[in-house]
Amino acid sequence: MVTRADIGVIGGSGFYSLLDDAEEVELATPYGPPSDVVTIGRIGSRTVAFIPRHGKDHRFPPHRIPYRANLWALRSLGVRQVLAPSAVGSLKAEYGPGTLVVPDQLVDRTSGRAQTYYDIDGAVHVSFADPYCPSGRAIAVQTARSGGWETVDGGTLVVIEGPRFSTRAESQWYAANGWSIVGMTGFPEAILARELALCYTSVSLVTDHDAGVEAGQGVTHDEVLEFFAQNVTRMRTLIAQTVESLPEERTCSCGQALDGIKLPFELP
Ligand SMILES: [Zn+2]
Repeated sequence: MVTRADIGVIGGSGFYSLLDDAEEVELATPYGPPSDVVTIGRIGSRTVAFIPRHGKDHRFPPHRIPYRANLWALRSLGVRQVLAPSAVGSLKAEYGPGTLVVPDQLVDRTSGRAQTYYDIDGAVHVSFADPYCPSGRAIAVQTARSGGWETVDGGTLVVIEGPRFSTRAESQWYAANGWSIVGMTGFPEAILARELALCYTSVSLVTDHDAGVEAGQGVTHDEVLEFFAQNVTRMRTLIAQTVESLPEERTCSCGQALDGIKLPFELP
């Protein structure tokens, strides 16, 4: 029997497992192995494939994560919808720790990361004006709110190269642009999902205020992990409930991202 899954979940810092009683599969891709073995199990009527973004032992820093392998592996399992929980810093004083943000925009401040599958044999330009799945976003927001989360519907995620955190000046600059949250992994994950015509929804948990928002030392990695650990059970519940609410048939346009484009190779 070929192992298949409908929905992919890429867990962020502190979020290293989702499914109990799951099958573990080792996958190879043209871009090397994914961050870790992929666990596949059921949540309600849906089959879910889970990848811990940094590896189970958090061995990959944000700039070394095999993003292309992760998304390729999910698609090769049959996944068409991806949920991407992550820990982020807040650029707005009113979004305190524990706030959930489901962004609708993204600013890429990374550099030097492999950010496309189409870097040989001609140009493939996909639309990325709206980087996230509208249907996945709406369901994540609704599910979070009905579970009592303070949830922000929309906003801009700035993805920085890391692994260092922002300087105070950088952080103030991002905030002055009206951007909402800052993270290190949301790109190229989102564009790679789009390049494979997958639905992709970021579910971002604020763990702290970024350096420019308040006085003090600024964020430390230990603080991020500790805060996320306190919230991981709640986050897992939210992701599981969102999985169950995602539509079996996609009605959004994410699946048509590559329509009319001549691809240099076949997608898995
Ligand atoms: Zn979609």
